[in-house]
Amino acid sequence: MTKRKLDTICIQGGWQPKKGEPRVLPIYQSTTFKYDTSDEMGRLFDLEDTGYFYTRLQNPTNDAVAAKICELEGGVGAMLTSSGQAANFYAIFNICEAGGHIISFAPVYGGTFNLFGVTLKKLGIDVTFIDPDATDEEIEAAFRPNTKAFFAETISNPSLVVLDIEKFANIAHSHGVPLIVDNTFATPINCRPFEWGADIVTHSTTKYMDGHATSVGGCIVDSGNFDWDKYHDKFPGLTEPDDSYHGIVYTEKFGKLAYITKATVQLMRDLGSIPSPQNCFLLNLGLETLHLRMARHCENAQKVAEYLEANEDVAWVNYCGLKGNKYYDLAQKYLPNGSCGVISFGLKGGRDVSIKFMDNLKLAAIVTHVADARTSVLHPASHTHRQLTDEQLVEAGVQPDLIRFSVGIENAEDIIADIEQALKAAR
Ligand SMILES: *Cc1c(COP(=O)(O)O)cnc(C)c1O
Repeated sequence: MTKRKLDTICIQGGWQPKKGEPRVLPIYQSTTFKYDTSDEMGRLFDLEDTGYFYTRLQNPTNDAVAAKICELEGGVGAMLTSSGQAANFYAIFNICEAGGHIISFAPVYGGTFNLFGVTLKKLGIDVTFIDPDATDEEIEAAFRPNTKAFFAETISNPSLVVLDIEKFANIAHSHGVPLIVDNTFATPINCRPFEWGADIVTHSTTKYMDGHATSVGGCIVDSGNFDWDKYHDKFPGLTEPDDSYHGIVYTEKFGKLAYITKATVQLMRDLGSIPSPQNCFLLNLGLETLHLRMARHCENAQKVAEYLEANEDVAWVNYCGLKGNKYYDLAQKYLPNGSCGVISFGLKGGRDVSIKFMDNLKLAAIVTHVADARTSVLHPASHTHRQLTDEQLVEAGVQPDLIRFSVGIENAEDIIADIEQALKAAR
């Protein structure tokens, strides 16, 4: 089949019904799957045959949705997880264990910052956070002999730093490590990091992919491009026998699918953060309109950003679609059709005015969530990033007065009118 367009994949990717089967992806709400002989079942446990046997490892509903996201990203294999947090944890832990080290962009989602800086440390994994503006020497100096991966977000949440994917893919590869990109905010509709050299992509599907704020979920997609065997000693989990499967070697047995197969049959088997088939069904419904919604999110956000930029109550606006934005040129390269619906800005008068502004919004709701159909707003320093110290806030690229405004797909004029009345009330 020729390569299909993204719009078509959104609708038709994944579930491929055969004669007489449901046209719409069914919810296989079953923990377990039946076989006729003991031997048939045994071969599944040895990874000698493929097939469903227990939903913690694989489920047909979940797999169909993973296949759709995989095709959208242009990968070779994908695995769904119960949250974006689980996806990022597994993406790292699949190739990095106690004694290892990773490098991460400092401006990342608050949950990821905590996961890396606190929890991975407890597991014996060291993390170096680097500034996106770090010099070449500083970046080079961050690499160590035990470095296993480089991690960053395509568009960082909430600081909206646009990643120079090609540059950091080249740097990572020159040190023999993969580039892992969290593509949550851009989605594959606006950016496909594999086309620029990224090796692994992760998602919080909770955001635009689900798009309606119904289900928390995550995904890992493998490009199949990283040559683990070339760095045999660095990635023994993939290149040396796995005792828990009678000594199979993932790179030998699964080739380009080594990484994602290990994540599924070993990490998911042992750690078990699977999404429910019901949630995957809802995620699939969201994906069916992702291409339509992303275009509208971006169109609305551009209008709101331009309105804010021209407003005298507004101290600063950060949106990479604005000419003059620090990341405008990178966005033109990597996100030519639009970035995302999230804008950040600060108000003159600082924190108190910001809080008053938010409390007066009527259409936009104060919610922790971001990136769904409804316009929402949040003050990260008081909410998502509350656990971080002021120093960490700055390191994570979150100014104390930063308002994260997630532009929905309502009518842009109504969104702007709401902002206007709340700005007046906050004066
Ligand atoms: C929300 C988010 C996560 C965490 O995902 P959950 O689904 O909430 O666990 C990770 N990365 C980014 C960029 C996010 O926005």
